[in-house]
Amino acid sequence: MGDIVDAILEGVFCQNCGEYLGEGDGFPVTCPKCLREEREEEEKGMKIYVTFGQTHTHTHRVNGKIFDCDCVAIIKAPTAEEGRAIAMELFAGKFATIYTEETWNSASIQYYPRGYLEANP
Ligand SMILES: [Zn+2]
Repeated sequence: MGDIVDAILEGVFCQNCGEYLGEGDGFPVTCPKCLREEREEEEKGMKIYVTFGQTHTHTHRVNGKIFDCDCVAIIKAPTAEEGRAIAMELFAGKFATIYTEETWNSASIQYYPRGYLEANP
């Protein structure tokens, strides 16, 4: 058992799926197939943050949840474009700003007392 762990640490086997990769380079590696799957997984897990302006008195009821200016809606989508399209559909185009994981500043959540709410159907 210890031998297999050592071999993974040496890079003989993929540290993710355990596929034999040949002689290791002395450090753990992930095979190209696993790297590609990880990347696809990340793309699938894309999140869009939707805020509703503080002057916005309109509330939205989506899937039994109330979305208003005190919360940040999270929409999971394969791409930012699809996330935007879902936001437009769910909130009928009535929201303040859409952020991606790159543009959303997680410290901003302090201005939203109700916190994050998932909006996916
Ligand atoms: Zn692998």
